[in-house]
Amino acid sequence: MIRRIDHIGIAVDELEKSLPFWAEALGLDVEDIETVPAEKVKVAFLPVGKARIELLEATDEDSTVARYVAKRGGGIHHLTFEVDDLGAALTRLHEHGAQILGEAPRIGAGGHRVAFVHPKSTGGVLLELVERRATTEALGLDIRPGVPILLYLRDPQEKLWGVLGRLDTAGVVLHGIDLSSFDDWVAQIERDEESVVGPSILFVPMGRVEKILLDRASGHLPSLADRFERRTGRRLNEVLAETERGAE
Ligand code: ZN
Repeated sequence: MIRRIDHIGIAVDELEKSLPFWAEALGLDVEDIETVPAEKVKVAFLPVGKARIELLEATDEDSTVARYVAKRGGGIHHLTFEVDDLGAALTRLHEHGAQILGEAPRIGAGGHRVAFVHPKSTGGVLLELVERRATTEALGLDIRPGVPILLYLRDPQEKLWGVLGRLDTAGVVLHGIDLSSFDDWVAQIERDEESVVGPSILFVPMGRVEKILLDRASGHLPSLADRFERRTGRRLNEVLAETERGAE
């Protein structure tokens, strides 16, 4: 039923202030940063072997993480086990008198189904159970330099597409373009026109990053990188290298 320790959730005041320790001093990689609206948190995942550290920053004063930080100044907030079958796990826990928190299951980070067991039933530990969808696990969340990504920004909201240059505690370096200009840019290359819009090297501070997703096929829609190559008949990396040289 329980497959492994999936992650340990640590509540922090601000990701930006905590990442220097976890990522730089300890040298852990930041695998993913995303906002989970249902839990009113922004989270960063840092793999440690097969498990991960999940740093949680509240996005709303009225979230449980905000209350936790206000009361205790941060710390270990929850422990998460990966289970094969969340429904079966909940039934079993129920039969053993364990108390499940709120509505279960709900959608947590990564779009996975999760449920929480009340600390009363566990001896004081908030326990999260997660069932990972096979497809997500098979694809693997592998955000590293050189891969095309979609970057969601806040204040103001923007969506960028491009090839990841660097991801660290300061922010994200992307060789890309605003998503709203993507089609114009592709059309321009298709027709071999004078460049009006085009990609550039962009830096986004971590405070503005809402979500980073891999640019990949969804359903039968190809990824944007694939669409670019199919429409223009050119290699994405070649074209980006040209725009980089052009910018110098
Ligand atoms: Zn968690």
